[in-house]
Amino acid sequence: MRYFPAFHDLTARPSLVVGGGEAAARKLRLLMKAGARPVVVAPKAVAEIAALARRGEITWHPRAFRAGDVAGCGLVIGASGLAAVDAAVAETARSRGVPVNVVDRPDLSSFITPAIIDRDPVVIGISSGGDAPILARQIRARLETLLPANLGRLARFAGAFRGAVAAQIGDGLQRRRFWERFFSGPVADKVLAGDETGARETMLGLINGRDAQRQEAGSVAIVGAGPGDPDLMTFKALRRLQEADVVLYDKLVGPEIVDYARRDAERIYVGKAKGHHTKTQDEINTLMAEQALAGKRVVRLKGGDPFIFGRGGEEMDYLQARGIAVEVVPGVTAAAGCAAAAGIPLTLRGTALAVTFLTGHAKDGEPELDWASLASGKQTLAVYMGVSTAATLAGRLIEHGLAAATPVAVIENGTRPEQKVVTGRLDTLAERLEVEGVTGPALIVIGEVARQALEADITADLQNAAAALPQAV
Ligand code: SAH
Repeated sequence: MRYFPAFHDLTARPSLVVGGGEAAARKLRLLMKAGARPVVVAPKAVAEIAALARRGEITWHPRAFRAGDVAGCGLVIGASGLAAVDAAVAETARSRGVPVNVVDRPDLSSFITPAIIDRDPVVIGISSGGDAPILARQIRARLETLLPANLGRLARFAGAFRGAVAAQIGDGLQRRRFWERFFSGPVADKVLAGDETGARETMLGLINGRDAQRQEAGSVAIVGAGPGDPDLMTFKALRRLQEADVVLYDKLVGPEIVDYARRDAERIYVGKAKGHHTKTQDEINTLMAEQALAGKRVVRLKGGDPFIFGRGGEEMDYLQARGIAVEVVPGVTAAAGCAAAAGIPLTLRGTALAVTFLTGHAKDGEPELDWASLASGKQTLAVYMGVSTAATLAGRLIEHGLAAATPVAVIENGTRPEQKVVTGRLDTLAERLEVEGVTGPALIVIGEVARQALEADITADLQNAAAALPQAV
């Protein structure tokens, strides 16, 4: 974040606007919406500003800017459009520590103004950090269509009951649940539909009823986060993240995905990485159960799909055996994500009639797999966790009859910005991985489906080699 978003209270001290043109008038309108009583300094002013001054809604000093004008102000806007005046305004405000914005001059400003959606008291500010104001405006237009016009009314309604709810429901977690139920429930709908009187009666019943004191049971959602690109998360995954009290996440889940969690959700890293204490599966299970039994909404966030090489099944069994409600939210598994991102179909009519997801992970050097059936052809093998055992894997498949020339493609960090695709033949797979220095999470695709990718690479290599040859004279 280049700029820190914050909301100013403009009622306490005067705001100064230097300039009397259209730009100044626009800023004045905004400031007055926030309850400011602005002071305008400008030798001349447009009719709108003059009229505001006549009605006493602002103070207008019809003269040039002086350094002393800044004294005692809470906020300063430079809107004269004259470089020298704007610079002087910025310099004076800065030297006195007063926040200053100069219209269209972020270099002179200590703060910038966002695109605003105003559903008072709900206010949304959208900023592109000055890089793309039009984009910010387009985002605003989209959000405007999503937000009900009566949103402000709903917020005010809730605000009026805040004290009563706090007095009645002492426990913080329970109180939050109460409000969550409220905003997605029938009372809120009534307010949004304009029936505040009806809503008020129902609300009193809600606050004083038994429901308000209900201790909601905790739960665990085992959520697949997809292969890396946050856009590949499901809507449900996003929703669960935004409801979560606690998020336990793995190494495969990047920070840009964990960031979708509710702002004040507790985030617990449970993956393996250098310098981090590694939690055992038992410790993770215990931690999830403890949190859920304490009434928390736990999200167990995993790379890809939780039920594909994700130990989601074990975790589900453990929790269910303790009477904890478990929900599983599927995700895009690495094979699907990587194949799509690399343009490699996993099945192909006539050539690849089946696809097998297998693990290359081995406790003692060699995974226990049915090599004969894997080598039987007309299928695609999608190998997870196979980089370190690639040589053994390829050797066994060839021994059991799979052609040494079978195309392979390795997708490292699939769907992420640093994605890398390495192609080759089965008999040189391990060598290629070594030469290309593949170390990150990588998916190995073995089968005819990878031929196109392989041939494209060979063609590119040949072209590069030809280009490097000395030109014939
Ligand atoms: N549950 C996960 C798999 C976890 S096992 C899923 O459904 O995708 C971890 C392995 O998944 C890694 O060793 C790698 O083989 C694969 N993997 C996960 N994310 C990947 C990515 N972005 N690119 C390539 N491979 C990935």
